[in-house]
Amino acid sequence: MVKSSFSFDITSEISPGNGARARTGRITTPHGVIETPAFIPVGTKATVKSVLPESMKDLGAQAILANAYHLYLQPGADILEEAGGLSTFMNWTGPTFTDSGGFQVLSLGVGFKKVLAMDATTFRRDDVIAHNKERLAHVDDDGVTFKSHLDGSMHRFTPEVSMQVQHKIGADIIFAFDECTTLHNTRGYQEGAIERTSAWATRCLDEHYKLTQERVKSPYQALFGVIQGAQYEDLRRMAAKDLGFKQSSGISFDGFGIGGALDKGALGQIVGWVNEELPREKPKHLLGIGAPEDLFVGVEAGIDTFDCVLASRIARTSAVYTRTGRFNISNATYKRQFVPIDDSCDCYTCTHYTRAYLHHLFRGKEILAATLATIHNERFIVGLVDQMRHSLRDGTFVELKEEFMAHYTFKPVAGH
Ligand SMILES: [Zn+2]
Repeated sequence: MVKSSFSFDITSEISPGNGARARTGRITTPHGVIETPAFIPVGTKATVKSVLPESMKDLGAQAILANAYHLYLQPGADILEEAGGLSTFMNWTGPTFTDSGGFQVLSLGVGFKKVLAMDATTFRRDDVIAHNKERLAHVDDDGVTFKSHLDGSMHRFTPEVSMQVQHKIGADIIFAFDECTTLHNTRGYQEGAIERTSAWATRCLDEHYKLTQERVKSPYQALFGVIQGAQYEDLRRMAAKDLGFKQSSGISFDGFGIGGALDKGALGQIVGWVNEELPREKPKHLLGIGAPEDLFVGVEAGIDTFDCVLASRIARTSAVYTRTGRFNISNATYKRQFVPIDDSCDCYTCTHYTRAYLHHLFRGKEILAATLATIHNERFIVGLVDQMRHSLRDGTFVELKEEFMAHYTFKPVAGH
């Protein structure tokens, strides 16, 4: 197995206080390098909605994360393989990730709300399902059977199928197939899910090893294990110890994703527990987290990469980020504001267009609105994590965090 094309080097380690270990590093993949910490924008179906890959590169994105579940259903993993892999198919020259599809199979299938940050104080039960939604996914010890959200056809994902699909898609970093639970599940169910995820992790390593041997001419793909365990310290630590040092077919995970139900208030604590158990020298990815305040918490706790759909999703509903908080640019207030969205932002949108113009595009339902707002929001988040990286290098992370938090308002925007 040729692994020399994938590596992770820690370039500096800093303790910003409270025992946490933030670090900077470099992930090397066959398609290029990612300087960490880094925010990885999401292109679920091999496109960051409404934005050219070239624009993503211009705004500083170092990699793109697509989703194996969506690409498996449409256009099919075979098409991506025939095209020469995800990066060639979508004309993205940099590194790529694919999420295994575990979350989507379960969330779309069961009809969960599409957020991982949930409120732990609400009641718990195991048949949690969004109101008026048919249950479309069933988990057993071998895998998940689910109905396509596109055409209702029946499919089955097992750890082996997920590895086969992700090998065909050909991203540089792929994730093990896990069972993603919610904060609503009972403690007993969480324990069962941890056991299943552990058994599935072993099967992912075995299948990944086999496929890597068979596909010697393909660029090496790094496999990350996914740590579950919801809000329970003992389960999180147990899962991290187990997957952190798991070996099968003579290989171990190249890095780790921290996933599943994350209570926003306990985010730093949960990441801290997990990182204390995982091997220090391997990269850590926080799945589905991307709100500015959470990114600071994640970086502080030692996370190397993040992905989240939030920046682009809210952009399409006219919500934009600024240093002082998020606002909705389609509100009447902005009709005559002939200034950039954020005058400290260096993105293409802010250097060429005004709030008044974006307000007009959103009000007129013009598709350019989505493009310009997405460029700004993605730049804002990518740039914020870049700033965190630079501040870790020059020892000013704590000052950056304090300054950002002092000006950023967390008041939720109406309608979001
Ligand atoms: Zn901007």
